[in-house]
Amino acid sequence: MSTNGGAAAIVERAETLYHDVGLASVRRHKAAHGGLAIGYLPIWAPRELLHAQGVLPVGLMGGGDDVEIIRGDAYYQSYICHLPRSVVELGLGGQLDVLDGVLFPAICDVIRNLSGVWQMRFPDKLVRYLDVPQNFDPEIGGAFLRSELESLAADLAERGARPLDPDALRASIAAYNRNRRLVVDLYDLRRREPWKIPTWELYVVLRAGMLLPVEQFDELLVAYRAAVAGDESRQPLDQARVVVIGSFCEQPPLGLIKTLERSGCYIVDDDFVQVHRFLRGDVDTDGDPLDAIVRAFLSSAIESPTRFSAPGAKSAALAERVRACGAEGVLFCAPSFCDPALLDQPLATRAMDAAGVPWTAFKYSENTGQFQVIREQAGTFADSIKLWSGDTPMRASR
Ligand code: SF4
Repeated sequence: MSTNGGAAAIVERAETLYHDVGLASVRRHKAAHGGLAIGYLPIWAPRELLHAQGVLPVGLMGGGDDVEIIRGDAYYQSYICHLPRSVVELGLGGQLDVLDGVLFPAICDVIRNLSGVWQMRFPDKLVRYLDVPQNFDPEIGGAFLRSELESLAADLAERGARPLDPDALRASIAAYNRNRRLVVDLYDLRRREPWKIPTWELYVVLRAGMLLPVEQFDELLVAYRAAVAGDESRQPLDQARVVVIGSFCEQPPLGLIKTLERSGCYIVDDDFVQVHRFLRGDVDTDGDPLDAIVRAFLSSAIESPTRFSAPGAKSAALAERVRACGAEGVLFCAPSFCDPALLDQPLATRAMDAAGVPWTAFKYSENTGQFQVIREQAGTFADSIKLWSGDTPMRASR
């Protein structure tokens, strides 16, 4: 799984940004360009709106295995996931000082409580609990989300951001549409030729996009795709094609992703760094741009454990994802104590049983350091697919 030529340099730069938990790149950006930088927690934030007001959106995904938690543990019970502890640790350690505020999207009680911690500890910063709707009627949830976004835009302007301008917002929507297409295109290439795009490389590239301005992220995506697409040294191996489900908020350590690949799995779809793919397709650039963002959130978002769905819809969406990427199995890979992921898991595994799709499940935290047990589990899973699924339509057609 080596990186070659141009790809190696690109991945190295992305990996440096992945480890930039102290946001040195954001400090450099602000020193060069001024303006506000606003952090956001997983898994969706109105980045177009921030961009249109001249604000740098900065994705916060915890400290991974780069941060030792000392003070963060004091804020949460031991039976809570790890991400909020490392975010508190980074905040109290001053590593997030460069941010002018943080958005806390409504995805679970833990994030809600984290917004309260932030309000108490950082009273001079902008702290917004982004209360996104679970009612998707445009007259109800749509009107509510629009008022949330208008209020956010006003708060940003009060702190020195440009006032929200419809034309600027349309341009920012177009910028993120282009970015989303580039990400989806990389996912498509990995689905077709997973040996060309090791997931750990794709992952650090996506993580780099959490810190970079969207235009620079575009350049990184384009350069990476060009470098790997023509790289004939990347040849197929006999690996099992799997989907990794459940890692949409707290992220697995990079070593765990590498371990899954080394254990004999090609990851052909996943939930990592989901903000880049949370919306399916383009957001309209015609008409009222704020309404377009609201409409996209209501009707174009992916099925997620953090969103209400009609009974059966999430299971059907997972079955379709598995079918669409020609996966031979599913790895349910969720953070320990992640209520949204783990509450959905029984229904999802039942759906996989009904569809005849093999699956296995394990948990992690962002600072998990020992991968041997997971390697054995994933390796055995991949071997069993290769040994006993030889006559399934998916394997036979390859
Ligand atoms: S990992 Fe799960 S429980 Fe923890 S903050 Fe994220 S969504 Fe909430």
